[in-house]
Amino acid sequence: MKFAIFGDIHANLEALEAVLADAADHDCSHHVCIGDIVGYNANPRECLELVRSLECPVVKGNHDEEASLDTDLIGLNPLAEQSMKWTREQLTNEDKEYLSDLKLVRQVRDFTIVHATLDTPPGWGYVTSKFDALASFSYQYTPLCFFGHTHTPVFYSKSLSVEVEDGLKVEIEQGKKYFTNVGSVGQPRDGDPRASYCIYDMGGQRMINRRVEYDLHTAQKKILDAGLPEMLAQRLELGK
Ligand code: ZN
Repeated sequence: MKFAIFGDIHANLEALEAVLADAADHDCSHHVCIGDIVGYNANPRECLELVRSLECPVVKGNHDEEASLDTDLIGLNPLAEQSMKWTREQLTNEDKEYLSDLKLVRQVRDFTIVHATLDTPPGWGYVTSKFDALASFSYQYTPLCFFGHTHTPVFYSKSLSVEVEDGLKVEIEQGKKYFTNVGSVGQPRDGDPRASYCIYDMGGQRMINRRVEYDLHTAQKKILDAGLPEMLAQRLELGK
């Protein structure tokens, strides 16, 4: 059984479609979404509809939460804020209810999913170091956990200490725990503009980070046509 685990889609329909096609090519029979379906890019409703049609486990991201609320926008960077105002206008009440009802943490088979951190899921902190990962490992009760939020794929593992696993593929060792960032479908920030997601091969006990080319120019054109900040289109080709 292979799971395609993806998140930080951020309303980028072209990237999401390319990831789902790549997952099908690699015989993924199951899907899992670690949140931030909306925000930043130009197709929030279409991405929501596509994710919902997969009928898969989904957890809530900070943008999903913001989009479901009517409260003042606090703590978002100016680009995110401008995009969030626009996103709220696009979504129906039913869309917002769906996003609002999403859980922060879920267990699926032998793994856990969360958007940002396991130590304080509603705090939306960023795991950017082994030290940050250690805090989440303290609350991880399954061998594997998948997360996102930083838009940068990385495999953390823990036996006696926390390490970063090299490479794009990890063979899972018994007795170790893994805290895996699947990267971002719709707005990668590690300098590689290709969409990122993770395949968890449960039978083969391995995890593979996949990078997928997509029709970036169409996604950029939609951002500009929607009147969203030009910077949001530019950053997609920079992978930042
Ligand atoms: Zn995000």
